[in-house]
Amino acid sequence: MLLRMSTLFLRTLRDDPADAEVPSHRLLVRAGYIRRAAPGGFTWLPLGYRVFRNVERVVREEMDAMGAQEVHFPALLPREPYEATGRWTEYGDNLFRLKDRRGVDHLLGPTHEEMFTLLVKDLYSSYKDLPLSLYQIQTKYRDEARPRAGLLRGREFTMKDSYSFDVDDAGLDRSYAAHREAYIKIFDRLGLDYVIVSAMSGAMGGSKSEEFLHPTPIGEDTFVRSPGGYTANVEAVTTVVPDEIPFDGLPAAHVEDTPDTPTIDTLVAVAQQLFPEAGYTAASTLKNVVVTLVHPDGTREPLVIGLPGDREVDAKRLEAQVAPAEVAPFDDFAKHPLLVKGYIGPQVLGSTNEAKIRYLVDPRVVAGTRWITGANEPGKHVFDLVAGRDFTWDGVIEAAEVLPGDPAPDGSGPLELARGVEMGHIFQLGRKYAEALDLKVLDENGKLVTVTMGSYGVGVSRAVAAIAESTHDELGLVWPRAVAPADVHVVATGKDPAIFEAAEALSQELVTAGLTVLYDDRPKVSPGVKFKDAELLGMPTIVTVGRGLAEGTIEVRDRATGEREEVPVAEAAAAVL
Ligand code: ATP
Ligand code: MG
Ligand code: MG
Ligand code: MG
Repeated sequence: MLLRMSTLFLRTLRDDPADAEVPSHRLLVRAGYIRRAAPGGFTWLPLGYRVFRNVERVVREEMDAMGAQEVHFPALLPREPYEATGRWTEYGDNLFRLKDRRGVDHLLGPTHEEMFTLLVKDLYSSYKDLPLSLYQIQTKYRDEARPRAGLLRGREFTMKDSYSFDVDDAGLDRSYAAHREAYIKIFDRLGLDYVIVSAMSGAMGGSKSEEFLHPTPIGEDTFVRSPGGYTANVEAVTTVVPDEIPFDGLPAAHVEDTPDTPTIDTLVAVAQQLFPEAGYTAASTLKNVVVTLVHPDGTREPLVIGLPGDREVDAKRLEAQVAPAEVAPFDDFAKHPLLVKGYIGPQVLGSTNEAKIRYLVDPRVVAGTRWITGANEPGKHVFDLVAGRDFTWDGVIEAAEVLPGDPAPDGSGPLELARGVEMGHIFQLGRKYAEALDLKVLDENGKLVTVTMGSYGVGVSRAVAAIAESTHDELGLVWPRAVAPADVHVVATGKDPAIFEAAEALSQELVTAGLTVLYDDRPKVSPGVKFKDAELLGMPTIVTVGRGLAEGTIEVRDRATGEREEVPVAEAAAAVL
């Protein structure tokens, strides 16, 4: 493939775009790879789209190699499946919702668990059909609170999402491990540095989930690592809450066994311990659980327990979803102080801060509450809740915020904190979606069993930016060969037709050898401008055909290292290949 600069749809810019905060965004726009089309939405231009497709190809090859099969869903989806799993509401403001001309609700898919579950339910019915892994590479829509950094956080972006279906837990473990291996291969091939961190606190059980974070100071995730190899998203570092929380005169029941995605059964059990006199009803959404306490006098009180770390879910909304008419005002806080303990105890994770506690605590408790300290130091009182009423809660949290030097929960040494961008996420969903949408198959004994699932994502468009971010230098982009829009950039300088003839011949020779060549054949552009462009555009190898030709040489330069070599024309192709 030969790309000629004289006709390529490309304008490089001398100045940084005003709205670009990070180097990858600045450079991808300046080098003419992408253009902003909407808030959080970008148009891929020819060179950018080549990089995108290279990344996509690597992802696709590895997914195919592990035996996953590619399908493709629409992005415009009906409300019902998302209603059935609770996510129509739970997704909150991040979901793009719209109506068709008949007034029927739709959404633009932020991720497709529901649709894959229904597809498999539609076609499969036996354990013999499983295991199965399906994937797609598709446009996703999320109304992110803060679209930023160009492709790194868009409102419309490309994700590879896959879903595994197994009949039992051992099968799910295998599917999860296969995806983990595939992800390692993908990010290795892309040349992207990554750390695999647990995304959920292992100490509390719950489903397994890990993230592939690309370490970079511009990342929005904070993770910890210890010299002994412990790594975790800071959201997932378990904080030990001491047994003797000063709850004077209150029942000693604890919710300590609650896994971090609490099951409804655990919560009902906890509620029964705490309020033996009350009856219970319960409802569960996928990430959050609402237990409604029903007292002997008939009054009802919903207890909302949110999954920490998921700031996008808001407790009020969940409650409304579960029992819109039954939400009684929470007017007697003093009678039920343990509700607060229930929220804060085992639910508090490493990065606890006032905002998070506010989130975890029922908003009605927080209203009318004065925050006395709001401090965030391990071993200190994190906050005191003083309701207008006569109640004080002295919360003591051992490690309210993970600080550098804190011990790793597994004892593997002091923690170091770093920032990263989430490139991939693998997640054992278990049976929640299959249960909500009734995906069952017959097992060996002819009994109906609920399928267990995993879901796995890679940010394809985000990867383009992350690679640019990690490889660029002060002159411009520096693509690794695996994803570069072209293997080599041939620059013809000067006005001598012999130079252009030699450059053309060399380009053709390289193309014949199977390379993609970007050839700067522009006749009236100065060498200075051409070199600047070549540095900005970032092909891995830059070949200059210029004055040296008179002595029978050309220059071959490695864009990443800057190493230059004068090579006889006859050996030029060999030097580049
Ligand atoms: P983040 O923590 O960065 O918001 P996420 O946890 O919400 O990401 P997932 O739902 O796990 O993302 O989606 C799988 C992958 O999709 C992520 O690992 C990331 O690479 C990519 N991704 C998610 N949101 C965006 C976005 N707004 N723009 C670009 N890529 C995204
Ligand atoms: Mg997100
Ligand atoms: Mg995330
Ligand atoms: Mg994620």
